Amino acid sequence: GRALVWLRRDLRLPDHAALHQALRAAREVWSVFVFDREILDPLPRRDRRVEFIWRSLQALDAELRALGEAHGRPGAGLITRHGRALEELPRLALQLGVDAVFTNLDPEPAAQRRDAAVAEALRTVGIAFHGFKDQSIFEGPEVLTGAGKPYGVFTPYKNAWLKALTPYQLKAYPVEAHGDALAARPAGEPGVPDTLAAIGFEPSGLDLRVLPTGRPGAEALLADFLDGRIDRYDAARDFPAVKGPSYLSVHLRFGTVSIRRLLREAQARVEAGGPGAAGAEVWRSELIWRDFYMQVLQHHPRVERAAFRPEYDRITWDEGPEADAHFEAWCAGRTGYPLVDAAMRQLAQTGYMHNRLRMVVASFLTKDLGLDWRRGEAWFALQLNDFDLAANNGGWQWAASSGCDAQPYFRIFNPVSQSEKFDPAGKFIRRYVPELAALPDGAIHAPWLARPVDQAAAGFVLGRDYPRPIVDHAEARARTLERYAVVKG
Ligand code: FAD
Repeated sequence: GRALVWLRRDLRLPDHAALHQALRAAREVWSVFVFDREILDPLPRRDRRVEFIWRSLQALDAELRALGEAHGRPGAGLITRHGRALEELPRLALQLGVDAVFTNLDPEPAAQRRDAAVAEALRTVGIAFHGFKDQSIFEGPEVLTGAGKPYGVFTPYKNAWLKALTPYQLKAYPVEAHGDALAARPAGEPGVPDTLAAIGFEPSGLDLRVLPTGRPGAEALLADFLDGRIDRYDAARDFPAVKGPSYLSVHLRFGTVSIRRLLREAQARVEAGGPGAAGAEVWRSELIWRDFYMQVLQHHPRVERAAFRPEYDRITWDEGPEADAHFEAWCAGRTGYPLVDAAMRQLAQTGYMHNRLRMVVASFLTKDLGLDWRRGEAWFALQLNDFDLAANNGGWQWAASSGCDAQPYFRIFNPVSQSEKFDPAGKFIRRYVPELAALPDGAIHAPWLARPVDQAAAGFVLGRDYPRPIVDHAEARARTLERYAVVKG
């Protein structure tokens, strides 16, 4: 038979569930990526994610061709479409005369609605739709409590997840041996566009040395991380000035690396024991957090808009012109709190933010500025290269205390002590807030407390070179405790 593989968040060849299944089931297999106007049209014309996808597709196209050629099937390039998936997919499937469309499932509610509509449109023309688990190790219903309920706390979830794990879940779906079923892209079918302009976008300023794209980029980052850094991950991961984490989140987001591959690497190091096992074990936990938040979203899709714990929707957040000005200062990295500002500028400049800093700035937005966590969540969704609805929503609700296994509301990060603890020498702050660079280490975390002699020596004038703090942390903390009191009653 003939099959079409629809690629979305799985832009790689190796260890690919849908492609593996299609190549085994059919004798002629095409692959398509749809630049979906429903997702792309509302975005600004410079978007790092769109560039990341486009570059990753170029790499994928080259690998598809090479695999076809190695099996005597030349011309097996990727087909692309620019339009609405609901129209493009059935049209292409009919044109190619396929019996079935194969795809890796996406747990996000909007993706599920889209897939249901596409599957229905295909069904009416007699084409089957097969979806596979590929993004996570376990899906929602696969890890439940003894009473058959979803887990709401991470540690017991993680224990159950580890208990359920067998080598089967980590097994790769190989593609390399099945290239003889790849079919050539028909003449006249559009492939991967040569320029971003062809899909209406402009170069985004993505720094390819820092963020290499595509499957080869993921391999390079992974090799770098496995070469020793993973062993020290537990100790290094909390310090934003240190190259501690893997920087693979965007690759997991777009599937340029397989989650099974990463867990195989982590698992092997945990099982081998020795000095590196502790680092690998903590990193494995982070990958399990990813599954955890995905299952929260699957079981409770309402968290997309509402607090996981409904009593937290009773909270009244600040609104009005002052709140809007505070929000703008937060987005722009001009709150007067150096670590918060450095983090927000890192996000704007690179599309990445260190995990410790995501927690700090999210706490600052909700508990120092008193703003609705959904405003911060939406800003992150627009800015983060690795934006993932489940992880982002989980992270924000964690910081706002409204989520599954969240930070208790009375535990409020102090942005100055977080700075002293996790960026002690101000190295990260100096990189992103250069106007503070000349202040001594002791003064950089709270410039408004710096001695006049230190300010003068640095040629620094508070309020002129860098903003005064837009809120007082102690006062904000007291207001937050009052604001959150409604969750008790
Ligand atoms: P590493 O430290 O190398 O971790 C490896 C992988 O584990 C990550 O790539 C990621 O896939 C997963 N992971 C790590 N921490 C978490 C976590 N807390 N929850 C879920 N998965 C995790 N992560 C995203 O991928 N997309 C988001 O949109 C996102 N938004 C966040 C918002 C907030 C407010 C917070 C507090 C966290 C958010 N995270 C998000 C989680 C985490 O900050 C990033 O995954 C991490 O910083 C990415 O860097 P890394 O790849 O170097 O991570």
